[in-house]
Amino acid sequence: MRKNASLLLTNIGQLLTLHSSAIHAGPRRGLDLKELGVVEDAAVLSIGGKIVSVGSTKDALRDPWIKKHRKRITEIDCSGKVVIPGFVDSHTHPVFVSLRLVDFEKRIEGASYEQIAAAGGGIRSSLEGVRNAAKAALKTKVLTVLHDMAAHGTTTVEAKSGYGLTLESELKSLEAIREAARSWPGTVISTLLGAHVVPREFQGRSQNYVDIVCMEMIPQAARRRLAQFVDVFCDKGAFTAEETAQIFDSARKHGLNVRAHICQLSETRLEPFLRFEPASFDHMDHVNDADMVALAKSDTVATLVPGANYFLGLKDYPNARKLIDSGVPVALATDYNPGTSPTISMPMAMSLACTHMKMSPAEAIAAATINGAWALRLAERKGTIESGKDADFAVFNVKDYREIPYWFGANHCSMTVLNGVIQPRN
Ligand SMILES: [Zn+2]
Repeated sequence: MRKNASLLLTNIGQLLTLHSSAIHAGPRRGLDLKELGVVEDAAVLSIGGKIVSVGSTKDALRDPWIKKHRKRITEIDCSGKVVIPGFVDSHTHPVFVSLRLVDFEKRIEGASYEQIAAAGGGIRSSLEGVRNAAKAALKTKVLTVLHDMAAHGTTTVEAKSGYGLTLESELKSLEAIREAARSWPGTVISTLLGAHVVPREFQGRSQNYVDIVCMEMIPQAARRRLAQFVDVFCDKGAFTAEETAQIFDSARKHGLNVRAHICQLSETRLEPFLRFEPASFDHMDHVNDADMVALAKSDTVATLVPGANYFLGLKDYPNARKLIDSGVPVALATDYNPGTSPTISMPMAMSLACTHMKMSPAEAIAAATINGAWALRLAERKGTIESGKDADFAVFNVKDYREIPYWFGANHCSMTVLNGVIQPRN
């Protein structure tokens, strides 16, 4: 990985900086989601993994420093291409072993999410594989996925544990994420999802399991710096609002930030959780109107994962229009996981956002970049193309940015730059 190299992208057909003086501070809301800060015939210079200048190709080529050092700069001609900030995929579950092909078939035959879980499928069926797997094997799985994601334009990934659900296997999953992250030039944020579901051996005594999450998993993950966030699946069939509050309380006491899978299958009131300053509430299919008002006043991001709705064959999707029009900051993510959203493609998530949630292509791009960065508390470094930020770019072999969600199911990303390191499409 050559991080100290200087990299100059020139002749960019459309550069989406996602930056302009007209944009309000904080996560993007309402009309700000459409502000892409487009520069045509643009150039970007980065040195040592950081963006140094952004402007027109003409100005870049006249710059005395660039003129003097041109021979040592890696220059890439991006004529006829679109360059955007690398995607920030702020919700993924990459640590699993087996696919869930039986669940896939059962669902096609008409079984519901809850029926599949009751029949021994669902999240619980992924546990054995992870509990028995060697850490090295899990690391290899995660690293393969990270490279695949980069080939589709993703440069920052939030990666959750959550398919072990014992102290040992959750820590092993987080270690696998950390080791994979060290071999990948992009940025990985780790999340402890020990509270994914109540494992079978604790059925009927969920409080005992919550105690293990709060008194063993969270303290150890925090002490060993294995996770930045703690996530909880708060919904029917998973954890109650009271249990979620206990887990959030423990996370904050141990210096970890919180996020939740919430309002996916049923409505849960969100306002009482805002005192924990969650970075993100994810799924959000069933949100109370009063909570939308409360969220519009907070920096908690609503992360929508339409890949899950698509793969579950649902007719309804989260009400992105109502959230956006209410002033709630909205992000998009893949929810990459073996059961309900086996996709690593952010352009696919964006396409679904456009066709099924009526988000405009511009809103989908902002939600997949800068608001993803907000959802991970990384907006200082990620999500826009401006001086001082990390050199994370996705180059698309298209003429117009609207083509990115338009060509669904095909990968038009031709090159990705992760913290200044070039990864051509393999
Ligand atoms: Zn998820």
